[in-house]
Amino acid sequence: MQAFHDLVRDVPDFPRPGIMFKDITPLLADAAAFGACIDALCEPWRGQGIGAVCGIESRGFIFGAAMARALDAGFVPLRKAGKLPPPVVGVDYGLEYGMDRLEIGSSALAPGERVIVVDDVLATGGTLEAARRLVERLGAEVLGASVVIELPGLNGRGKWPAALPLHTLLAY
Ligand code: AMP
Repeated sequence: MQAFHDLVRDVPDFPRPGIMFKDITPLLADAAAFGACIDALCEPWRGQGIGAVCGIESRGFIFGAAMARALDAGFVPLRKAGKLPPPVVGVDYGLEYGMDRLEIGSSALAPGERVIVVDDVLATGGTLEAARRLVERLGAEVLGASVVIELPGLNGRGKWPAALPLHTLLAY
């Protein structure tokens, strides 16, 4: 994990004052590290009959799409409001300041399909939990989540159901 750790750049006060942004682009640019990262994110889900990997816009697309290929699963984007063509299903959720919305194509997942949710960073946990609720709204089964970076000080894990696996690679 140290190799991954050294490839995440801290950017203070981006995109707003007080935020320490975790820049994963050096990790993406390193072929060996990116491959090892995708392998590690997939590790709990091999042989689990995953039908679809749901990636959260936008950096969750990068990791999720690569994981979908590695798991021989489909990829389904969970997008910010107004980006997907209709018909869509959406869920609103609270941010530290204000609200946001995630949407999915209303027939993107089959009822009972086995799904995992993927993102780059788990901060307060609102986004990942909204993604789980959105997938379940289509009747699919969420087996768990994989996230590259967890910020334990913000206790995002506390928003996620304790019974569901939440697999993270790095903690800061
Ligand atoms: P949250 O809902 O607070 O867990 O925020 C998670 C979402 O915001 C993820 O989609 C991340 O891409 C993004 N995010 C939150 N905090 C950071 C951070 N410090 N660095 C990079 N991305 C972040």
